[in-house]
Amino acid sequence: MTTSTNTGAALPTTCDVLIVGAGFGGLYMLHKLRQLGFDAHVIEAAAGVGGTWYWNRYPGARCDIESIQYSYSFDDELQQEWNWSERYAAQPEILAYAEHVADRFGLRSGITFSTRVTATTYDAARNLWMIDTDRGAQVNARFCIAAVGCLSTPQVPSWPGVENFAGEIYHPGAWPHEGVDLRGKRVAVIGTGSSGIQIISAIADEVEHLTVFQRTPTFAFPAHNRPLSPEDLAAAKARYSEIREAARRAPQGRAFATEGRPLLGDTPDQRDEVLRRYWAMGGLDFTKAYDDISSVLEADAVAADFVRDRISEVVQDPAKREVLLPRGHPISAKRPCLEINYFASFNRPNVEIVDVRANPIVEVTATGIRTTAATHDVDVIIVATGYDAMTGTLLRLGVVGRDGVALTEAWAAGPRTYLGVLVDGFPNFFIVAGPGSPSVFSNVILAIEQHVDWISDLLTFARSAEADLVEADPAAAQEWTAHVTDIGERTFLSLGNSWYRGANIPGKPQVVMPYVGGTHVYRDKCDAVAAAGYPGVSIS
Ligand code: FAD
Repeated sequence: MTTSTNTGAALPTTCDVLIVGAGFGGLYMLHKLRQLGFDAHVIEAAAGVGGTWYWNRYPGARCDIESIQYSYSFDDELQQEWNWSERYAAQPEILAYAEHVADRFGLRSGITFSTRVTATTYDAARNLWMIDTDRGAQVNARFCIAAVGCLSTPQVPSWPGVENFAGEIYHPGAWPHEGVDLRGKRVAVIGTGSSGIQIISAIADEVEHLTVFQRTPTFAFPAHNRPLSPEDLAAAKARYSEIREAARRAPQGRAFATEGRPLLGDTPDQRDEVLRRYWAMGGLDFTKAYDDISSVLEADAVAADFVRDRISEVVQDPAKREVLLPRGHPISAKRPCLEINYFASFNRPNVEIVDVRANPIVEVTATGIRTTAATHDVDVIIVATGYDAMTGTLLRLGVVGRDGVALTEAWAAGPRTYLGVLVDGFPNFFIVAGPGSPSVFSNVILAIEQHVDWISDLLTFARSAEADLVEADPAAAQEWTAHVTDIGERTFLSLGNSWYRGANIPGKPQVVMPYVGGTHVYRDKCDAVAAAGYPGVSIS
């Protein structure tokens, strides 16, 4: 047993349920299981709670689902007492919220920090998970719950020569806690997804020179972020239960505005009026303005033209504009981003854009980055190239199930789950907000809550039946996974090289990983399975 002040609670040698990760998933899982009388414990690699919001301390980091919705709904007092300061909270505020939740519900006493799980092995003879850590200690638990996050393993491409770079290199997901002084420096940002866009906007005016390396131009909508007034907060809180219910019944776990009709049924003037109105509102609702923008190519083409027109109005330099205009895939083939002065940043003379699709990066040298067209000398490289999404962290947990089969083997062709929660061949092992569930294709906090509640109900059901073994049936897992893939491949996600389908990782199986059939549909399916006594799950 190991105890020290900076590692939080002592690591137990045994517990009923061992949870890995103290982000929003692990925190609520711990709270819920404790309420139900389970002996649960959390192991967390970081020195604090918050997960994503603990690690991603980069300049400009903020959520892109409105804070009123991107927050826990499980406790009305919590949502009534917490005051978000902005429409889209920045990272320090979201981290403060996670810390508040941990303190308010007394969760820290059940979390061991600064400890990484290095192996998770099922012992069939004892029906126990043996969880090994990088501090040498082992925990034996009947149940193991992976709340390790979908965007928690930074992905850094292996450019030749990167080890020779004499300057500093940072990934947004491992940003130094003390911050990075970029003033007066020549900085490269590689990648223009959500994090890249946020960083570029935040640092453009303080660096001496900013070179942005872009592979795929981004469909980004204005966030129109603003402070939330006391009146805004009071109005939202007065109808919080209504907002949450709408979010639970929505396809992506958040309440949204929509005209509720197809774009293709409107005249060009009507379309223009509607799209301008949603553009002016800001936020992700732009793609929801009409029913068919994310599902019919002709409708997407109209909306995409509209976006390009707006970007063209902002970016003055024709050469930069040409590189920045998003083309080649439907808007919803990738995760749309929100921007705050992103496109306007390129009107600054110190901000340059390099098209690495036309001129790929050849190598990193001691002084900078060489593409097939030019060499760019820089002091700092920010590698905003994303994450080994959805499966990356799970596969690094060292999970070994029945008959010594590793999760890496079981998932060699892509993740296979039942309802995204259970994995056949891995008894008593559960995943929170992972592949095969809505997860990152929705408001993740509400997706987490639904999973935590469902897993808790299942464990309670098993306990009442005096059962200690819960395992997905292989046929059920196969059928569910085929269904997830089938739905995914019929959406626009199949038309873009996104991280949703593993396209950013060389050699990763290319399958749409989240369940994209709608969080409300998914929720109903899970509820029906529970109500029917868990068909597809062996409980003994
Ligand atoms: P995480 O927050 O990733 O927490 C997982 C934890 O597990 C981490 O703390 C990690 O250290 C720990 N861990 C992993 N492996 C181990 C191990 N082997 N041993 C011990 N500990 C381990 N989602 C939205 O819905 N809306 C948004 O606006 C939004 N914005 C985002 C912005 C950024 C920059 C990023 C990266 C993600 C964003 N997300 C957003 C997704 C976000 O990840 C989820 O919303 C949510 O925070 C995930 O919570 P989690 O608990 O599932 O995982």
